[in-house]
Amino acid sequence: MDRWLQQLLYTLFPGTCVLCDAASHRNLDLCEGCEGDLPRLTDVCLRCSIPLLPAQTLCGRCFGDPPPFERSVALYRYVPPIDQLIIDFKYNRKLLIGKVLGYLLARKLDDLYVDSAPDLLIPVPLHPKRLRDRGFNQALEIADVISDCCRIPIDNRCCRRVKHTDAQRNLSAKQRQRNISNAFRVDREIAARKVAIVDDVVTTGATVTELSKTLLRNGVEEVHVWAVARTTAPTAIHAG
Ligand SMILES: [Zn+2]
Ligand SMILES: [Zn+2]
Repeated sequence: MDRWLQQLLYTLFPGTCVLCDAASHRNLDLCEGCEGDLPRLTDVCLRCSIPLLPAQTLCGRCFGDPPPFERSVALYRYVPPIDQLIIDFKYNRKLLIGKVLGYLLARKLDDLYVDSAPDLLIPVPLHPKRLRDRGFNQALEIADVISDCCRIPIDNRCCRRVKHTDAQRNLSAKQRQRNISNAFRVDREIAARKVAIVDDVVTTGATVTELSKTLLRNGVEEVHVWAVARTTAPTAIHAG
């Protein structure tokens, strides 16, 4: 690239890549090279996002025993360097990373949903104690960017997390489901029939399954799940 053009791009978009620290030369703090290397999640079940063979669209379990949500979208596999980015975002308060990941997800959603997008975003609520400890809700940070990019309003007050659960990380899928049951409560009317739950990472799906059920019991008719990443263990989502 011409030197002057490079200089111009840098002046206009002085972004710094969150992965390699180089100038990104665009209006995003991630350079094109690093973005191209991220582990995209492809060939997955449209409904639950578990990996499938190419050309399949729905997994066997989603035919017989579908999850309560209509569709789930996860952009990346939860493997390096996405896992480390999300850990830095969540536990080291690098909110800029949340903005980058939120933007990448929003761009994908914009491609996927032409005119049938959900009408409301509901970030997975944190229990007040966890929110105090962390200082922010990572799901709300991501939803904020999606809301700006895709022009969908957010409601992060209609639903509360009323059960403080232990960290789910070291639990089996069955334990997670037990841990999370009755964890959410809807306090006020939800102003949409078709909503999208937003989270950073979907692991077994226990959390988004429980939240979906709670929303469906409270007037919502269709739930979509949007996440930056999902783990791709074969036991995911249907376990338990
Ligand atoms: Zn980079
Ligand atoms: Zn499936």
